[in-house]
Amino acid sequence: GIVGVLGYGSGIIGRYIDIPDEFPGVEHFHTVRVNQPSGWFYTTAALRELCEIWDEHGSSILNVHGSTGDMIFLGTTTDQLEPCFAKLTAKGWDLGGSGSAMRTPSCCVGKARCEWSNYDTMDLCYQTTQNFQFEMHRPSFPYKFKVKCSGCPNDCVAAVARADMSVIGVWKDDIRIDQAAVKAYAAGEIKPAGGGTIYTKLDIKADVTDLCPTICMSY
Ligand code: SF4
Repeated sequence: GIVGVLGYGSGIIGRYIDIPDEFPGVEHFHTVRVNQPSGWFYTTAALRELCEIWDEHGSSILNVHGSTGDMIFLGTTTDQLEPCFAKLTAKGWDLGGSGSAMRTPSCCVGKARCEWSNYDTMDLCYQTTQNFQFEMHRPSFPYKFKVKCSGCPNDCVAAVARADMSVIGVWKDDIRIDQAAVKAYAAGEIKPAGGGTIYTKLDIKADVTDLCPTICMSY
């Protein structure tokens, strides 16, 4: 890129303006990509830590998160890049990928919060991120390469649309049905979405069996 930090070829996206006289204050407006935790889980303390670094070294504007997956720090000047990077790494954060590199892998929340997950998306994302550190930080490909991990075909990270390698969890076994639970749903004893909707009863045909892509169930 046109700007960066020592030892890294990616993670900073340089932006200079051609008409600084007309737009003073944004002569430089570089973006810093910070590698997100798998599934985008932060403690409030971690968010405060990031915000304090960015208040000190940048515009205080964040994009949470960019489509690559990274936490995006929007807008800083060239002289602030190294100090910002030093503060981030001192606290255990790292930059993400940019340019013709392995891009920061991302994943859906997976089994941390979602009942549909067919594998541990967060672990795969973390392991992939660790394995490709060199390729993420030092662009050596002819073009960018993205890996996204979705736990099921709902594909909440849009892996099909946005990744070069889309890892989608699918169920490979006989279908399993808890008939007692089906009866309880049908009778309204178990509320749809845990009671979080206006509907008192789950419409099993419309909301479940008719949505089965392989028509393996009927009601
Ligand atoms: S892709 Fe599937 S497993 Fe992942 S969060 Fe979305 S619904 Fe859940």
